[in-house]
Amino acid sequence: MLLLEQPRPADRVDVSVVVPVYNEQENLPELLERLTKVLSGLDRTYEMVFVDDGSSDGSVAWLRERARQDKHLGVVEFQANFGQHAAVFAGLEAAAGDAVVTLDADLQNPPEEIPKLLAALDEGHDVAAGWRSNRQDPLLRRVASYLVNRLMSRATGVNLHDYGCMLRAYRREVVDCLCACAERSSFIPALANVFARSVVEVPVEHAARARGDSKYSLRKLVSLNYDLLTGFSVLPIHWVSSMGLLMALAGFASGAFLLLRRLLMGPEAEGVFTLMAVLFVFTGLQLLAVGMVGQYIARTYSEARARPRYVVRKLHGRLSSASCFPAPANAPSAEGDACPE
Ligand code: UDP
Ligand code: MG
Repeated sequence: MLLLEQPRPADRVDVSVVVPVYNEQENLPELLERLTKVLSGLDRTYEMVFVDDGSSDGSVAWLRERARQDKHLGVVEFQANFGQHAAVFAGLEAAAGDAVVTLDADLQNPPEEIPKLLAALDEGHDVAAGWRSNRQDPLLRRVASYLVNRLMSRATGVNLHDYGCMLRAYRREVVDCLCACAERSSFIPALANVFARSVVEVPVEHAARARGDSKYSLRKLVSLNYDLLTGFSVLPIHWVSSMGLLMALAGFASGAFLLLRRLLMGPEAEGVFTLMAVLFVFTGLQLLAVGMVGQYIARTYSEARARPRYVVRKLHGRLSSASCFPAPANAPSAEGDACPE
């Protein structure tokens, strides 16, 4: 389902760069300057689509102002904060490029790496995925990412070192497929694998966050990872079921052993602690299994609720001439919403 009737303005470009922005006021001037320098040196037509994800600092005012002066810049202004991936989705839906690059706004992904990604698309790949080989993030996040990357590689069948890197380039065909996906919560790098015939990893630089703090609290990170886990595979359910089966078999075997022992050697007087240990293991496993199933139910619930992935308040700059994002039937209605400036 496309939320945008005519997803792109009439004037197609070679390259679109999509940037989700949430309270990044301090980083925007340098980002726009460096991006413009890189893109104008490419010898390709280009545009920049910034998506303001309900910022409460001066980000949106600054972007609005710049979009008035810069014919390469389009801004999608959200009604509220819908999350990074919703913002990237909106950017993909608004982008007019034959190639679309995504990038974080905090300068952790250097814009100077974009030509490398585009070169990989030129070689015939559908997706060029950035790989932060010298990642500048806290150790805990790097360890968690390592585990998630292994799991995602198993679940999607595409072996990548860095699913979390948002510095990526997609061919138009893949972008169209992504835009056609209706699921509410999704992780774009993994979803893109479903539609790409060839995904190549390109090592890219990674900088520490220039200014401001990460917008991901521990709660948001945990929720994103649950999304990842349940959004792309039923593998965890299979693991839990197999574990349950093995435990049940072990239970039967030890039951038979105890019965035999009782018949041959008489009743056992001690062993209370062993029993407690066994009980803890079983209770823990049961809770784990119930929780795992619960994750899938929660996901089904949120998909069934079918709230819009995001609601656009206004379009600015080069997107002003694009058709309105129509408010979906069940979206909260607001007068004058989602219309170009
Ligand atoms: N972001 C967003 N909405 C959010 C959280 C983040 O659009 O709710 C943007 C943020 O402005 C940045 C990118 O997503 O451009 C990555 O966020 P951040 O740098 O905080 O994540 P981290 O690098 O810590 O994973
Ligand atoms: Mg960051």
